[in-house]
Amino acid sequence: MYFINIIYLNKKLKLMKIVVLKFGGTSVGSTDRIKKVANIITSFVKKKYKVIVTSSAMSGVTNDLVKKSKKISNEFRSEEYDVLVSAGEQMSCSLIAGRLNHLGYESRSWMGWQVPIFTEGKYSSSRIQKIYKKNILNYLKSGGIPIVAGFQGINSSNRITTIGRGGTDASAIMLSRFFKAEKCIIYTDVDGVYTSDPNTISNAKKIKVISYEEMLEMASLGAKVMQPHSIQDARLNRIDVDVRSSFKKSLGTLITKRKNIVDGKIIRGVSFTKNDAKVTLIGVKDKPGIAAAIFEPLYKNSINVDMVVQNISPNGKETDLTFTIKSENLSKTEKLLKKNKKISFRKIVVDNKVSKVSIVGVGMITTPGVTYRMFNALAKKNINIIIISTSEIKISVIVSRKNLNKAVSVLHKEFNLEK
Ligand code: ASP
Ligand code: MG
Repeated sequence: MYFINIIYLNKKLKLMKIVVLKFGGTSVGSTDRIKKVANIITSFVKKKYKVIVTSSAMSGVTNDLVKKSKKISNEFRSEEYDVLVSAGEQMSCSLIAGRLNHLGYESRSWMGWQVPIFTEGKYSSSRIQKIYKKNILNYLKSGGIPIVAGFQGINSSNRITTIGRGGTDASAIMLSRFFKAEKCIIYTDVDGVYTSDPNTISNAKKIKVISYEEMLEMASLGAKVMQPHSIQDARLNRIDVDVRSSFKKSLGTLITKRKNIVDGKIIRGVSFTKNDAKVTLIGVKDKPGIAAAIFEPLYKNSINVDMVVQNISPNGKETDLTFTIKSENLSKTEKLLKKNKKISFRKIVVDNKVSKVSIVGVGMITTPGVTYRMFNALAKKNINIIIISTSEIKISVIVSRKNLNKAVSVLHKEFNLEK
């Protein structure tokens, strides 16, 4: 019976041209903006799309709820925390539905638990596992516009969960996946993904198409356009994602499979993170398990370690180990290292004023000489490279923070990104 139901549902899905529209906090940041959002939604209805909307809370609302929880208790239970911080989406979704009703459209809001959207994992960082389709499908079929709360779901104990800050992006991707949407459009306050941060590089250009892999690197390296988890979900499910501004009419950036991109660009963008810190342990006793012993307490304290470089020990007894973390975690990290009885070292040297600059592009897989071009361009500007790390489609360097802007701009130029 269940099986037949699935076949039936999937058949229904195929007959519908579904689009998922996601609106971020600034797009629904005021009642005036919500009116504009409603007009965007109806423009798709007019083009004969079945529209599923998902929205974030109005900007600032979630942060405010987080603050309130801290004022109440610094041990606010995670179950209650999720109920609290997911509340903003209830407001924005109802306002969107209300405006659509006002314009004469059939629309209603759907909280995560009403759909339901099933999640797994810890509170505050749950992941969407499954979305129940039937109710929303019937509603779509009858001509309604469902407005689904982003960021939230329920777990197997029937409690409200949230899926991580910025999680509405992931809600949109999973809705696209379960409803087999033809398109997923992310409306945000920027009009696309840029070759670098336009505030730093005045001639940064909007990228027309970018692969999932490149976008993932750009996102986790600091381009704050979409939540990295959600891009990974889009990649796994091969969902084309269009990022656009809800304020401008212009075309945005399409995030898609590599195969769909034929422009021959070697490097897609230069991204950076500003506030990094570097820690070097000098004269670490070199023995098996030492790296694990160093990083275990950091991991237990949720301190994310980024790059790690271990030098070859010249005498086989001692080695130097360098790693980077976010600046804000530096003092805690130093404390943890100093009180760690499982390790011994001679000296600890830190630098709280470094930044990471990365070039990203799938083209580097097949193009020799990219590494050389990067290092040479930096050298010509007298920029010292402190640490280097590479992956298949990315090369990152740590530089002194005072050189950051210069480094980004020379690399942007070197790889012709302004054209
Ligand atoms: N409102 C939530 C947040 O601010 C979710 C989202 O914006 O996507 O993190
Ligand atoms: Mg947001």
